[in-house]
Amino acid sequence: MFHVKHGAGTPYRACPAPRIVLLDRAMSGYDVIVVGGGHAGCEAAAAAARRGARTLLVTHKLETVGEMSCNPAIGGLGKGHLVREIDALDGIMGRAIDRAGIQFRMLNRSKGPAVQGPRAQADRKLYRRAVRALLDEQPGLELRAGAVEDLVLDRRGRIAGVALAGGETVPAGAVVLTTGTFLRGMIHIGRETVPAGRVGDAPAVGLARTLEGLHLPMGRLKTGTPPRLDGRSIAFERLEEQAGDDPPVPFSAMTERITAPQTVCHVTATTPATHALVRANLGETAVYAGRIGGRGPRYCPSIEDKVVRFPDRTGHRIFLEPEGLDDPTVYPNGISTALPEAVQRAMLKTVPGLEEAVMLRPGYAIEYDFVDPRALRPTLELRAVPGLYLAGQINGTTGYEEAAAQGLAAGLNAAGADAVFDRAEAYIGVLIDDLVTRGADEPYRMFTSRAEYRLSLRADNADLRLTARGMALGCVGPERARRFEARRRALAEAEARVRRLGGSPAMLAALGFRVNADGRRRSAFDLLGYRGVDWARVAGAWPELADIPPDIAGQISIEAVYAAYLGRQAADIRAYRKDESLRLPEALDYSAVHGLSNEARERLAAARPATLGAAGRMPGITPAAVTLLLRHVQRAHA
Ligand code: FAD
Repeated sequence: MFHVKHGAGTPYRACPAPRIVLLDRAMSGYDVIVVGGGHAGCEAAAAAARRGARTLLVTHKLETVGEMSCNPAIGGLGKGHLVREIDALDGIMGRAIDRAGIQFRMLNRSKGPAVQGPRAQADRKLYRRAVRALLDEQPGLELRAGAVEDLVLDRRGRIAGVALAGGETVPAGAVVLTTGTFLRGMIHIGRETVPAGRVGDAPAVGLARTLEGLHLPMGRLKTGTPPRLDGRSIAFERLEEQAGDDPPVPFSAMTERITAPQTVCHVTATTPATHALVRANLGETAVYAGRIGGRGPRYCPSIEDKVVRFPDRTGHRIFLEPEGLDDPTVYPNGISTALPEAVQRAMLKTVPGLEEAVMLRPGYAIEYDFVDPRALRPTLELRAVPGLYLAGQINGTTGYEEAAAQGLAAGLNAAGADAVFDRAEAYIGVLIDDLVTRGADEPYRMFTSRAEYRLSLRADNADLRLTARGMALGCVGPERARRFEARRRALAEAEARVRRLGGSPAMLAALGFRVNADGRRRSAFDLLGYRGVDWARVAGAWPELADIPPDIAGQISIEAVYAAYLGRQAADIRAYRKDESLRLPEALDYSAVHGLSNEARERLAAARPATLGAAGRMPGITPAAVTLLLRHVQRAHA
């Protein structure tokens, strides 16, 4: 078996004489190799192995598997939905945070269930430990410490394995790259610049050169992290306390209850003095002194960005989040910064409660390479290199949950599944579709507002939307499948009962329910959709409902509230799916489509949308351009 390997730093196409590496025939290969043990990599490796692929996870250090590079928290608005979906597909993130969570809160509790987001503070160490334990329990998965320096391709340009630092080549049928911020990572603190993947870790330079050599469209992005503080030096007694939910609600359908001790967070805020200090030192930071070109996350801005963008604000909230139960480190969420270390120290003195705070580690900004995700198929496979998949921050996203969601999909596809989720089915589908059709010109993070069908895509119904699909994809274990089937049966049985009970307006009035006297029968299910009617009232009127367990009753109540809206949304979803079913050939010659503007041609040729619907969602593609495309494809197939 021969493989063509191009040396690190040698452009693939321009390579004058590619080195041919003879792989030992007897050498055992893997079905899937995952590079990187961050959030994308762990989920990708576990998913591929769950599907039965012989899988190897190679990462720099086994001690940092599951490391949270930045904030010690999982979930949040939009992100919490992703975690529930990962869990519904039997992924590991939900189970890991349930073992490691030290404060659970449902965000947006006062709003409707569609936009509520589960979130939990994590004990960093417990989280790493939980991820590692879940990976170690996974049959078919091996973990190995090592740095992947290069990729191995066969003569046809298909992936054939990876090359490790030191020269060893490991063959594989598919490779998933999940290298996070490590591709040519460069840390900036004030005027200091250090090559690093994140603090304390070396960057991946060889692999970045390899990707460049493949002529992939690549760009540079940046993100940042705040300083870390010693909690023993913070005057918590003067600050607002923020408690978690009691009882804490787990993320995973597999978790009975949360057993880790729970803790509180505190809230403080920057002051005009903080802002004056930041403003006076903007010239000392890499971004504002023009030394960083990459764009940063608009929705998670540094304190420098906040001060510049909101000059009239007199304060920005800072959430003081504990990093662990037996760790005094505190993460001040809200003041990510790349100011010089001395300025960071001075800045802390201007914040109530932090005047005496000891800074354990300064904040920093990191700039790194990413691959324009429009180079990917909706399976997250690179169009240019069959068998090579990319997932996580390498695709221009930010956040653990976004990374994990892509990892899960890429791992399944690398293991031979057809795991493409549509926008009406899952936030995972929204995320990947956004990336491959629109690209990422700034770090992409998930929000509920990105989903058109968010009334259907709720965190509470992730299992009902996805677990059966996961079972069909072969990534759901027997225990979860058993629990899911039991819940689905219980829900169906309870809903049938609630729909059977009811009566005419006169009968309902006798039971205390006021509805229009139009002679129309309403079921107990209909009544649950009325403002002011909850399960307790309905169950009080019909004792036959008393034995329905609270979780089933809660789910039915939510479904009842949304039933009318969902009926209306169903028509939109049908129209969307019709456009999605019109597939565009990958090799379509856009220059031959009459009437398209040059700009539309260029955009379409760069992203090669998989469907007509995806073409219509691309920026700069007008409805008229979509009609031209449709006619062209219909004519070609006539
Ligand atoms: P990572 O978690 O970075 O994991 C990459 C893994 O790949 C690492 O284990 C690394 O060792 C391994 N690796 C890389 N190259 C190789 C190689 N060649 N061979 C072997 N192993 C390799 N997200 C937010 O949502 N909000 C924030 O405020 C935020 N701030 C951040 C600040 C900093 C400083 C950093 C570093 C990240 C920040 N993030 C933030 C991003 C968040 O950490 C990432 O989005 C998330 O961790 C990405 O997951 P990933 O799996 O793609 O990559």
